[in-house]
Amino acid sequence: MSKKYPFLDLAEVNAPYIEQLKEAAARVISSGRYIGGEEVTLFENELAQYIGAPYAVGVSNGLDALRLILRAWVLLGKLQPGDKIIVPANTYIASVLAISDAGLTPVLVDPDPLTLNISARSVEKVITPDVKAIMPVHLYGRVAWDDDLRQLIRSHNLLSIEDCAQAIGARTLTPGLYGGNMAGALCDAAAISFYPTKNTGALGDAGAVLTHSKELADTVRALANYGSDRRYHNIYRGFNCRLDPIQAAMLRVKLPHNDAENMARIQKAALYNALITRQDVITPPLLPDSTDCVWHQYVIRVTGGKRDRMQQLLAEHGVDTDIHYAVPPNLQPCYKGLNHDPLPVTELTATQILSLPIARGTSPEDVKEIADIINHIKLD
Ligand SMILES: *Cc1c(COP(=O)(O)O)cnc(C)c1O
Repeated sequence: MSKKYPFLDLAEVNAPYIEQLKEAAARVISSGRYIGGEEVTLFENELAQYIGAPYAVGVSNGLDALRLILRAWVLLGKLQPGDKIIVPANTYIASVLAISDAGLTPVLVDPDPLTLNISARSVEKVITPDVKAIMPVHLYGRVAWDDDLRQLIRSHNLLSIEDCAQAIGARTLTPGLYGGNMAGALCDAAAISFYPTKNTGALGDAGAVLTHSKELADTVRALANYGSDRRYHNIYRGFNCRLDPIQAAMLRVKLPHNDAENMARIQKAALYNALITRQDVITPPLLPDSTDCVWHQYVIRVTGGKRDRMQQLLAEHGVDTDIHYAVPPNLQPCYKGLNHDPLPVTELTATQILSLPIARGTSPEDVKEIADIINHIKLD
């Protein structure tokens, strides 16, 4: 009973790369170039190549990536202030914050109860002429994309922006709007976060914008650099949201290992699903085909009002868990008064979801032991 199963140990996550990370940091330190420069450009090129999107712009974090895209669309006249944009109600709050920041109106939509992602069916009901864009969020690493959603985006002529913060490296069989099938290249634009806990994380804050539009990439790049398109020439009232070269250097070490890291998560998720046998109280996540989910989180649902008890008992057995997310955005104080339809799926699942350890640091052996603990837990 003394063994501990931490939820996530970031030192452990980076341990396999520590020598390369130190070399890369030393390279940046001796270069004398601490803002922009070759390290950032090389990373942008490597990322664009990996995702299969023509343009990548390194930025300060995932929230900034999202809000820069939306603000750029407003500046380019593709969106007007107040336009509505569809977003899943059960997402991390950053997706919604980016929408309000750009002066747009979030339309919160309940997810499909099986995938916990939005689907064409859930979205169709809320489309009105004021809805001009949609933000699929690949929650927990699962691609929110299929033929129906693609057709719906096309037929309503919606702009589309992927919140790809949790799904770097996920690939789906359904091609995106531009033909590629990798998350981050499916829609008009995508935001990636390299927050340290993500599947590929920096050693601090970092993010990126990916897009098929040169115009959007150029506008985002200018906006992220004081709104300037060349030195001391400001076309927009911009911000300082750049990617640091030291983080670009860290990410150049880690990005080539993203697929292998994801594969380890995919195997552990399959193992959990095969081993957890508590159908009385546990609904395991759907196991999709192939690499449609890269398991940023492995999220079970504990039914019958027993989630908190389960979490407490697991903690007593040394198993750390987490909840993504216990309070959905519409119930946060900052969105008090936000108009939305009833969100029964979001509000119910928020009381049921429980994330089990799945990152590097949790071995397949640990997964077996955790599943065994869960299978033997007495809930009352
Ligand atoms: C992490 C995350 C973000 C924000 O990324 P940061 O880099 O932390 O700003 C946005 N959306 C989702 C779904 C996330 O998980």
